[in-house]
Amino acid sequence: KTKIETLIEEVPKGLFINGQWQEADGGKQTEVINPATGQVIAHVANAGEKETEQAITAAEKAFPKWSGLTADERGVWLHKMADAIRGAAKDLAVFMTIEQGKPLNQAEAEILSGAACLDWNAEEVKRLKGETIPGPTGELLLVQHEPLGVVAAITPWNFPSAMITRKMAPAIAVGNTVVLKPSPETPLSALALMALFDKIGLPAGVVNIVTGDAKAIGGVLTADNRVRKLTFTGSTAVGKMLFAQSADTVKKLSLELGGHAPFIVFEDANVDKVVADLVAAKFRNNGQVCTSPNRIFVHESIQATFTEKLVSAVEQVKIANGLDENASAGPLIREDAIEKIDKQLDDAKGKGAKILSGGERLTGAEFDDGYFYKPTVITGITKEMAIFYEETFGPVLPIITFNEDDEVIEAANDTLYGLASYFYTNDIGRIAEVGRRLQYGMVGVNSINISYPQTPFGGVKHSGFGRENGAQGLSDYIQVKFLNITYK
Ligand code: ADP
Repeated sequence: KTKIETLIEEVPKGLFINGQWQEADGGKQTEVINPATGQVIAHVANAGEKETEQAITAAEKAFPKWSGLTADERGVWLHKMADAIRGAAKDLAVFMTIEQGKPLNQAEAEILSGAACLDWNAEEVKRLKGETIPGPTGELLLVQHEPLGVVAAITPWNFPSAMITRKMAPAIAVGNTVVLKPSPETPLSALALMALFDKIGLPAGVVNIVTGDAKAIGGVLTADNRVRKLTFTGSTAVGKMLFAQSADTVKKLSLELGGHAPFIVFEDANVDKVVADLVAAKFRNNGQVCTSPNRIFVHESIQATFTEKLVSAVEQVKIANGLDENASAGPLIREDAIEKIDKQLDDAKGKGAKILSGGERLTGAEFDDGYFYKPTVITGITKEMAIFYEETFGPVLPIITFNEDDEVIEAANDTLYGLASYFYTNDIGRIAEVGRRLQYGMVGVNSINISYPQTPFGGVKHSGFGRENGAQGLSDYIQVKFLNITYK
């Protein structure tokens, strides 16, 4: 038996509810597929409404005791969780690579970022200060923070570990308890995390996991009044539906939805740095990132040099099974991801765009039955093409040229999305002006680094609302209480 087979065999495949591992009703299971090979690698529990209700009950039962701990005591638990993750990072990375596809080094970096997020929240929660206000008649007016109760978290497959920790860390740091529904594509990463939290003895019911029928689980999580908050990362379509479903129970929400990031290269930018940054950002997780540069706006005067350097850099990107240590990017998540890219490229080509590199699926023995796509650069993109308005979620760099600052700012904002944006220039006046006018929750100025434990991550417009990480991340998981204390 290989090491990977042993790891898969050992990870629990059930539901973790009230500190116990259990099977789904009737022993129902679903398949987990390796996108690099198209092969089934495991079967995990396929739960529905009944098990989701059990998980909510467990979280509700755990809430009084957990929220009754001091911030310092909960902080100690978060640090223990972070330590456990760091200790198991190499194994966790393997689970992620075989079910999600990203290269091992990227998987490990993601896992360590989750540990950093737990550590940061463990400390930040100690600084969650309230207010005292002098009352008009001499009374003491007090504003304090309380946890919400049971928090439901629904997470996607593109960051199978960090999306869990960035929701769970602030939620439990302030005293909430959690029911997690991970993505059906990447349950092993989530189950492996739960197994670690179980192993360190996190009190029963503080975190619970239910894998299975998304619609059934989501239906119960949104309809149940005991769940006081839903935090979701995923597609805008599903986010809107969950938003509507949560209306009846008046839940607090955080929605981190799609993006369509502009990446603007002004004529005074350092082209070599820009190309290096752009390739690093685009091929991180093979473009399957909601903050991935999706529309590359390049000033007309530098377009020729820029595209030449970009194409040669893109041709160095090594697409391979993520277990291959030379891989710089892996497969896409599913067959339909390939179909979506082909469709966008066919539409653009039909309307006059030109492919400079890539533009097709990668096939052949080394790619098995996996979902691999050639890194692609396409120029001559206009607003008539679907790719101008639709999120791609793959290894495609669409180039759009511009001449004037006003023109490019307007084009960059011409989208319903508003998550991440990037621009490169050395002109301080332009930095202030463009930074102010871009309608995005995050702006990278001469930088692609927009996600840290200490900074607020999130969008505007149809990219959703709520912030993860940063001091703002904690305040999304509390409610405010005002008390008037009159002395006599
Ligand atoms: P993607 O297209 O990237 O997979 P989704 O928005 O479909 O994005 O998935 C994000 C998360 O939302 C996953 O955990 C998925 O199972 C879940 N999900 C999808 N449909 C529903 C639904 N109807 N109710 C609740 N959760 C859902």
